[in-house]
Amino acid sequence: MTELKGVGEAQAKRFAVLGVKTVDDLINYYPRRYDDFSALNPVNKIQPGPVTIRAVVKQAKGRHLRRGLHITEAVASDDTGSVRLVWFNQPYRADAIKSGQEYFISGEYKLSYRRLTIMNPRVEAVSEFPVNTARILSVYPETKDLTSRQIRLAARQVLPIIEKLPETLPLAVIKKHELMSRAEALNALHFPDSAKQLEAARHRLGFEEIFQLSLASLLNKQENQSEQSFKIPFKEKLAQDFVKHLPFKLTDAQRKAVWQIYLDMQKEEPMNRLLEGDVGSGKTVVAVMAALMAIAQGWQVAFMAPTELLARQHSETIHSLLESLGYGQTVDLLVGSLKPDQKARARESIAAGRAQLIVGTQALIQEQVDMHKLALIIVDEQHRFGVEQRKTLMAKAGRMPHVLSLTATPIPRSLALTLYGELDISLLASKPQGRHPIVTELVSPNSRAQLYKKIDEKLAAGQQMFVVCPVIEDSEVLDVRSAEQVYKKLSTKDFKHRRIGLLHGRQSAADKQKTMLKFINHELDILVSTTVIEVGVDVPNASIMLIESPERFGLAQLHQLRGRVGRGKQQAYCYLVLSDSQAPTKRLRALASSTDGFRLAQMDLDLRGPGAIYGTAQHGHDIDLRVAQLSDTHLIADARAAAETVLAQSESLLKYKELMKQVTRLRAVTNLN
Ligand code: ADP
Ligand code: MG
Repeated sequence: MTELKGVGEAQAKRFAVLGVKTVDDLINYYPRRYDDFSALNPVNKIQPGPVTIRAVVKQAKGRHLRRGLHITEAVASDDTGSVRLVWFNQPYRADAIKSGQEYFISGEYKLSYRRLTIMNPRVEAVSEFPVNTARILSVYPETKDLTSRQIRLAARQVLPIIEKLPETLPLAVIKKHELMSRAEALNALHFPDSAKQLEAARHRLGFEEIFQLSLASLLNKQENQSEQSFKIPFKEKLAQDFVKHLPFKLTDAQRKAVWQIYLDMQKEEPMNRLLEGDVGSGKTVVAVMAALMAIAQGWQVAFMAPTELLARQHSETIHSLLESLGYGQTVDLLVGSLKPDQKARARESIAAGRAQLIVGTQALIQEQVDMHKLALIIVDEQHRFGVEQRKTLMAKAGRMPHVLSLTATPIPRSLALTLYGELDISLLASKPQGRHPIVTELVSPNSRAQLYKKIDEKLAAGQQMFVVCPVIEDSEVLDVRSAEQVYKKLSTKDFKHRRIGLLHGRQSAADKQKTMLKFINHELDILVSTTVIEVGVDVPNASIMLIESPERFGLAQLHQLRGRVGRGKQQAYCYLVLSDSQAPTKRLRALASSTDGFRLAQMDLDLRGPGAIYGTAQHGHDIDLRVAQLSDTHLIADARAAAETVLAQSESLLKYKELMKQVTRLRAVTNLN
């Protein structure tokens, strides 16, 4: 960076804070938004609001109004008239301005002390290529002592480099979709000449992002299809028997999903399917039916949960679902916290093939376990189960196992196609009948006492409550209620007559398990926890969820948390206790307005704008869409079609070096399975 004029060591360090360490980084450092100062007006025509004039400045003078308040005043004139300029607390202005020189002046024209004034304007000597006034100005994410103006000054110097950047999209695609060249787009992104040009630039860059993602997922799909898996024939009677023993009737959506999975498993091509269903939609039973078909025919199944807590819970649920058919003994748990002898026994049982449905965490596949008959992998609520991990398993089993991923992250369809184009998708769009929608209330902090009273009546009637806090312990930085603090407060004061437990990620697996069991067995009325309970935990008798400092959570996460209640017969409640008395954010109001995960996902997209991938941040996705709007369905469809076309052509993609570099990186990321 120091090769740029005006960028010394100190400033290079500040750039580094923003992740800009090289000229290349700078080229790819995108503006956050734009300020439009492109409309140049004669002085006598300016209206209150943001304005730009071209005028001669005179009489710039500074003085102290009172302690701590310095004012610089000046007059700017053109042929049509004069206007007053004022800066507060910028004492250097008077010296910086040369009397009698012509400047571009951009700023807010408004009333100040009853006089119309351009307040705190930016001024810049008139030139062919202004970087601080008189145009659409890019505003970048800034850092201490590094302003957008300085970033623009540096960016202006790399324009000659941008001009020479090679094209990264196949020329046929550029032509067919009438896209700007890469060089032109990047130039316009930093220094747009017009709103229209900026839009075309963003379109081009967004198109490229989606094109690359699509190509990555299509290549993954191709690769998967070329592998061989295990043919697992469908046995009708087995499925019927299982369904007969269920305490409920499968929903139509569940039946359809099971059927799609059975069809996949009969094929030699490995299944790679995503079962997408909102929290509580009943994904587990669908997965268990898939597993049953495999184990009944002698194969092994690995069922992976994101946490040990969930793995343990799943193994019990699955055990009880399969017990009635005589397959209970085939279920085994393998998690890190087992005692050495238990672990050894589990391993031995797996190697001997007695254990056929092995429930564990991802560590399951890292452990030295001999699953030589592994034909199906079920991955619950986990977004990262990459090609590499699958290959490890393939090496053990000799072929590529079928993969079924379960997710409660309700990804809108356009997004799912882009991100997970390599997966086939089964959707559980409806929930089992007879569930009351959860009542969600935003509670102001001064209504806490009343709320507690209401809750206590419900606890007295035998219900249970989750209390979720954003952090484990108090910190000096964050002014939020910690789990430890809340636990202490509730158990010594507000609910001291109730049985209360504390659960968080820093406890040992055994402690967590003990507390969870107590809560499940209703030996606790209240469970104070962090987001460790976010996914999967199923305690039907818990019908109250209280979330502290809900502003600290994302919409997807809040929806997941709320999904922990409303699983039983009673009416469920979710209370979002705000940190202060200010008006709740749009996000929180959205949550209160709907219990439909798919609708919330769409709202979240609309609220967050480009690049926001619903619910993925917390799962550590590396996909960063910086320009493409996921709500822009046309762009997504076009870019995806373009990727399909390019792939269908026989010409090798390898000649597009830069493109393939990106695509290779993305292939590792888009692998949800
Ligand atoms: P999720 O999709 O969030 O994983 P689960 O599989 O945990 O949901 O199911 C939530 C609850 O709904 C469980 O208690 C389960 O037994 C129950 N359930 C599943 N399918 C049905 C159904 N068809 N009818 C009634 N209850 C069901
Ligand atoms: Mg689940």
